[in-house]
Amino acid sequence: MGRVGVRGVLRWAGSAFSGGIGDADRLVDMTIELGTPRVLSAEDAERQVLLADPRGYCAGVDRAVVTVEQALDLYGAPVYVRKQIVHNKHVVANLEARGAIFVEELDEVPSGATVVFSAHGVSPAVHAQATERNLKTIDATCPLVTKVHHEAKRFAREGYTILLIGHEGHEEVEGTAGEAPEQTVLVEHPDDVDGLEFPGGAKLAWLSQTTLSVDETMETVRRLRAKFPQLEDPPSDDICYATQNRQVAIKEIGADADLVIVVGSGNSSNSVRLVEVALEAGAKAAYRVDDASEIDEAWLAGVEKVSVTSGASVPDDLVQGVLGFLAERGYPDARAVLTAEESLVFALPKELRRDLKAAGRA
Ligand code: SF4
Repeated sequence: MGRVGVRGVLRWAGSAFSGGIGDADRLVDMTIELGTPRVLSAEDAERQVLLADPRGYCAGVDRAVVTVEQALDLYGAPVYVRKQIVHNKHVVANLEARGAIFVEELDEVPSGATVVFSAHGVSPAVHAQATERNLKTIDATCPLVTKVHHEAKRFAREGYTILLIGHEGHEEVEGTAGEAPEQTVLVEHPDDVDGLEFPGGAKLAWLSQTTLSVDETMETVRRLRAKFPQLEDPPSDDICYATQNRQVAIKEIGADADLVIVVGSGNSSNSVRLVEVALEAGAKAAYRVDDASEIDEAWLAGVEKVSVTSGASVPDDLVQGVLGFLAERGYPDARAVLTAEESLVFALPKELRRDLKAAGRA
């Protein structure tokens, strides 16, 4: 090892030191960029950012998005998609840019065209309409939503009235209720139970949307059972693993947060629920944003602990954008807090797998 020395003098140039360093024969010029000098306050030292893990994409969303991508690659644009494939405006905009056309109803799709059904599921009436219009369909309904459809069909077949806990107008609720519209009663809120009346001895069963607040749903079920002791349970949880895991995670890191930021779109049920769950758990403030551009700087006033998560339809680059926004304002790197491992992966819809195989791409 040769002698190490410094050539010349390291000079401060406002934002950098410049000079040279190396052994006597091979001095290397160097510049040390220091960025804007910043004095750390006591508040900075206390700052922390916690990042929920798991967060973001679930298996059903991942499958639905990949379905549209692969359909575009295989069949070419345009590929029609009934409703938003998943409830995230960035995902929808990206797929639109690649040639997907999102429609509200099937009468907007030209006869004979290919249409993908979204992760939220559709009623039998929509399947029948697709057949009538000679559409080629690819069903990207999440298998965990399909499971609830099967439960609805079975309860209906056995003569039950189904008390479907969910939000009116949500596509998933429309699809599930459509399995047995005459035998389904929507229950949106625990207080709705007070207004329900059924003949004595009526066969009653409850089901739910997959993306609800676990705690509120259990409260609704508790009140239903108190009023109708004969109430039948679904064979397994309808609120899916991803919804449950994300709620557990935000309770863990959000309960004593000064600020919780949930990344997700306004029509994403599970994202909206994460804000509610964080506030119920004790967070001082919680907001939902589609991306970092929607963060109001005023939310950060006096805030030391920020917890960040995202809904099940949110690509992680949007979360990274939020962390970057915080870093630029003096918050440290986020520390991920793991509360559950997720490894579930769903196979692509069978219609698409068949066509990929026929094209030699499977
Ligand atoms: Fe499926 Fe749950 Fe994801 Fe909905 S949130 S797509 S039910 S895994």
